[in-house]
Amino acid sequence: MIWNNESETLTDRKKQSLQGELLKNLVNRMYKSIPFYRKKLGAVGMKPGDVSQVEDITKLPFTTKDDLRDNYPFGMFAVSMEDVVEIHTSSGTTGKPIIGGYTKGDIDVWSEVMARCLSASGTTQNDVVQNAYGYGLFTGGLGVHYGARRIGATVIPISGGNTKRQVMILQDFNSSILTCTPSYSLYLAEVGEQIGVDFSKLPLKAGNFGAEPWSNNMRKEIERKLGLLALDIYGLTEIIGPGVGNECEYKCGIHICDDHFYPEIIDPETTRVLPHGEIGELVITTLTREATPLLRYRTRDITKLIPGKCQCGRTSMRMERIMGRTDDMLIIRGVNVFPSQIEEVLVNIEGVEPHYQIVINRVGTLDELEVHVEMNERLISDEIKVLETVERKIQSDIESVLGIKVDVKLVEPKTLIRSEGKAKRVIDKRQL
Ligand code: ADP
Ligand code: ZN
Repeated sequence: MIWNNESETLTDRKKQSLQGELLKNLVNRMYKSIPFYRKKLGAVGMKPGDVSQVEDITKLPFTTKDDLRDNYPFGMFAVSMEDVVEIHTSSGTTGKPIIGGYTKGDIDVWSEVMARCLSASGTTQNDVVQNAYGYGLFTGGLGVHYGARRIGATVIPISGGNTKRQVMILQDFNSSILTCTPSYSLYLAEVGEQIGVDFSKLPLKAGNFGAEPWSNNMRKEIERKLGLLALDIYGLTEIIGPGVGNECEYKCGIHICDDHFYPEIIDPETTRVLPHGEIGELVITTLTREATPLLRYRTRDITKLIPGKCQCGRTSMRMERIMGRTDDMLIIRGVNVFPSQIEEVLVNIEGVEPHYQIVINRVGTLDELEVHVEMNERLISDEIKVLETVERKIQSDIESVLGIKVDVKLVEPKTLIRSEGKAKRVIDKRQL
C-alpha cells in the first residue's frame, strides 16, 4: 500500500527539481548555523549560492562518523535547544554514541516516512502493531511508534525483551504487524514453538524487520516460522532512525524516501561516486532535516542503488539490502568477509538453526576462523556420523563462498546467546 501517492510516485523531473531546491536550502541553512559546515564548505571553496541543482551535490564535502564524534554532543545542531523537542542516540555498536536532534518538524517527517514504511508492509488503521523494537534512546521503538500513530493503527509499545510475554500478547491482542530485529523475530518464533504456539493460526500478517543485516534466506526462515510477510526496513540514527526506506511487497530492493534522504554510492577507498548498480558505501544527505542536518553522510553501509519504477508504482530510488558495514567487514587472512555471507550458507543447511557466532583467533601470525552453529533438536539426536557430515558440509560450503579455511563447530540447541536487539555475531579475539 502506498501511503503518500504524490511523494512516492514523483516523476524523475519533478523529483530532481524538488531535490535541487531542498539541497540549495539545506546548504544555506548549514552555512548560516553550523560552524563546522561553514568551515568545511569554505575549505572546498563552496558558498551557498554555488548550489543550484541536485547534481551539484558531488562538489560538496562528505561528513563522517568521526566528524560527529568530534562535535559531540551538540556541535552539529543547526537550531537552538529551545527548538529541539527530542534527542536520540545510536545503539553504539561501534563506539561512542552518535546524537540526533529533532525539531517538531523533524518528528513530523519521521512520522511521515515511517508511515510510508509501515504501509509498504500493509499496515492500515485496522492493524495492531506489536512494536518490539527497544523504546528509549535507540530510535527503533519511537520511530515505529510515530509511524503507526500517523497511520492510526493500534500500537502495542511492548519494546524489546520479555519474550514469553511477547508471545502471550501476540496471541491475546491479535497483533497483525510485528516490528523487531530479524534475529529477535526468530527468537520469538523459537520461544513460541516451545510453548506450542501455532503461528500460522495467529492474525500476524507482516513484519518490518531491520536494524541489523540479514539475508534473503533468513527472510524465508522467518516467513515460514512466523507465517507472515517479512520486509526489510532500513535506517540509522544519524539520518532519522528507521524510516530511511522499506521494501515493498515485491521484495526487489528497499524504497528510499528520496524526497527527504538523497542517496549516493561511493567507492569507500577513493570516495569516487559510483554509477547506479555498482556496490559501494551508501552516502546520504538529509534534504529536510532541521535539527541535525547532514551533508553527504558516509553511512559505512555497503549496498548498491537500483533506479527505475517498481512494479508497486513507486518511483523512489531503491537499494539492495545492506550487505554489511565497512566496519563489520572482517579481514581474515587478507580476505574481506561479511557475517552475512556465512549466514547465507547456514540457512540453507538442513538441521541447523540460523543462530551462529563467528570467532576469530590469531594463532602465530595466522588468523583462524571458527563458526559456531546451533543444531536443532532433530539433528542432535542423530548419530555422530550424521553430525560430522553436516559439519563438513557447512565447512565446505563456507570455504567455497569465502575462499578461506574455516573450522565449523556444531553446538547444542539454544546455547548461543540470544539478543533482544541487535545480534552480536562476531567475537574477534585477535590482538591487533
Ligand atoms: P549503530 O548500530 O551504528 O550504533 P544505529 O542504532 O543508528 O547505530 O543503527 C544503524 C545501523 O544499523 C545502520 O547504519 C546499519 O548498519 C544497521 N541497519 C539498520 N537497518 C538495517 C537493515 N535493514 N539491514 C542491515 N543493516 C541495518
Ligand atoms: Zn516497490
